[in-house]
Amino acid sequence: MHEPLISLKGLRRDYASGDGTITVLKDIDLTIETGEMVAIIGASGSGKSTLMNILGLLDRPTSGTYRISGQETAALDNDALSALRREHFGFIFQRYHLLEEISALANVEIPAVYAGLDRGQRRLRAASLLGRLGMAERIDHRPGHLSGGQQQRVSIARALMNDADVILADEPTGALDKASGEEVLRILDELHAEGHTIIIVTHDANVAARAGRIIEISDGEIVSDTQRADAGIREKQEAPQAPSAKNRMGAGIDRFREAFLMACKALQAHRMRSFLTMLGIIIGIASVISVVALGTGSQRQVLANISSLGTNTLEIFPGEGFGDMRSGRVKTLVVSDADALAKLPYVAAVTPTVSTSATARFGATEANALVNGVGSGYFDVKGSKLLAGRFFDTASIVAMDQDAVIDENTAKTLFGGDADQAIGRVIFVGSVPCRIIGVISSQQGGFGSSDNLSIYLPYTSVQARVTGDMSLRSLTLKISDDAQTSVAEQAVTAFLTGRHGTKDFFVLNTDDIRQTITSTTQTMTLLVGAIAVISLIVGGIGVMNIMLVSVSERIGEIGVRMAVGARRQDILQQFLIEAVLVCLIGGVLGVALALLFGGIFSLFGSSFGLVFTATPIVAAVASACLIGIAFGYLPARNASRLDPVAALA
Ligand code: ADP
Ligand code: MG
Repeated sequence: MHEPLISLKGLRRDYASGDGTITVLKDIDLTIETGEMVAIIGASGSGKSTLMNILGLLDRPTSGTYRISGQETAALDNDALSALRREHFGFIFQRYHLLEEISALANVEIPAVYAGLDRGQRRLRAASLLGRLGMAERIDHRPGHLSGGQQQRVSIARALMNDADVILADEPTGALDKASGEEVLRILDELHAEGHTIIIVTHDANVAARAGRIIEISDGEIVSDTQRADAGIREKQEAPQAPSAKNRMGAGIDRFREAFLMACKALQAHRMRSFLTMLGIIIGIASVISVVALGTGSQRQVLANISSLGTNTLEIFPGEGFGDMRSGRVKTLVVSDADALAKLPYVAAVTPTVSTSATARFGATEANALVNGVGSGYFDVKGSKLLAGRFFDTASIVAMDQDAVIDENTAKTLFGGDADQAIGRVIFVGSVPCRIIGVISSQQGGFGSSDNLSIYLPYTSVQARVTGDMSLRSLTLKISDDAQTSVAEQAVTAFLTGRHGTKDFFVLNTDDIRQTITSTTQTMTLLVGAIAVISLIVGGIGVMNIMLVSVSERIGEIGVRMAVGARRQDILQQFLIEAVLVCLIGGVLGVALALLFGGIFSLFGSSFGLVFTATPIVAAVASACLIGIAFGYLPARNASRLDPVAALA
């Protein structure tokens, strides 16, 4: 059985209007054969464009059937409809509907992008179509730089790009002067002669007269349908077939690239607006990264300070804790405790310390110094670095020698620098003369300021000769490598409590401090980070806002893209890419800003710097992309759900 190309039966189109509905097309029955040239005429408002949009699958009838080559269209989903539009229909509009941001050539290429034609072939075909329509010289011009007639020729080339069987022209000469209109009609005649089916809507009788068949519509009904006697149905010549589309994967990548370029163009067209939108993301990302870097930097600094206390060590102090006002007067920590603790199997070394401050004097030079009375194991436990001379040994402790080890600061203050010079000299610590036997490097970091002058004497000497007090300020225990510090801490506490009969001391475990500080800074970083994330979300809302504006500004463009065969997914992709691009550029600029901030921060020579690690930077850029997707999705989806007819109106 013969199936006509187009067949409408009982077709109706209602529009909701106020409370009721208005019927724009009433019971239209119509068949159009392949190769016909049909003119649809009628007064303005009679329903011509509505019929045309239904024929071109831009709109759906309210009821009735529309078959294309026997296939019912009512059952087709959106993607199938866009595929049919892409492959079989070419649209020519009264107002051309070209995209302003791109060249004539790129406009002509669009249908082939969605059809998945290879890029090189696409270029070639678009250029040859434009050349055929006398536009070879102007393929690089933007539509704004072309006359109306030229723009209409570009839109005809676009309609032919996918080698459409059916050309739908809605008032193609309506906006043109007589000569240009004549030229467009000549081209349509030519296309008809080649075998294209042409359906042209017009209210101009002269234009209609060129068609073989004239259908007149009035108030949504066909009132006449006349066929000219000499009207020919042209067999379609074997026109050079549009080259076939390449593989799906490559075509998908190609569509992505086109969408990407389009998104770049859109951003470029609104540079200021895009930048202001980005600013939210830039500030958000920069603050997240800076806060994390600041946290990492300060944590490293504090941990380095703790490491200077020595690892695997316990410090025992008299009193109940650092806040204990009495601890200076608690005299319960004594040397015999140290001896007893040293005998425990998990204690590798014990060194008692006493400390006081005293005036150090060499010749006429005087300075206030911290006098540390320490055991011979002290330097080992602390990992002190010897610059000159030697440490004192156990014999010196027992003998209460007046041998002193001084730090670099003291050497500098008393002797003007050179460590070797200091060895063998005698200085007065308070009123006690001491011979210098060693110089160590000043303790860096640590909780005390490293600018202090420190003098180390055997603790026995300090007790007997300087303070006259036999109690200890602290005991430093080095735990054996095979024992766990926390377990040793419990055992030591139990042991000493047993010895003293009461717990009149407290134990500082450097591992504990380390852990506490690590978790505290992490919590702080998390907290401030959370605030920064809120600013990112605010930035995201800004992106969403601007994307909604962008979509509503470009409704016409979306309509054109749909008319030439873009899938919903293509439109979605294009706007999503635009949103992600805004966020991604914002993210990269934010990272740059944070690095710049870090650089400036370190210039001011603070005691700690910002430490940038890869993870937060990668995470920040990734979350910028996610924000783009999350906040760009709604506007992009709105765009993709647009009704093509409404978008073209
Ligand atoms: P023509 O192209 O013949 O000038 P149209 O097909 O554009 O006429 O419109 C036919 C009638 O349908 C007009 O009265 C118009 O007001 C009405 N119409 C068109 N589109 C809509 C719509 N989206 N909603 C409501 N009424 C519409
Ligand atoms: Mg119209």
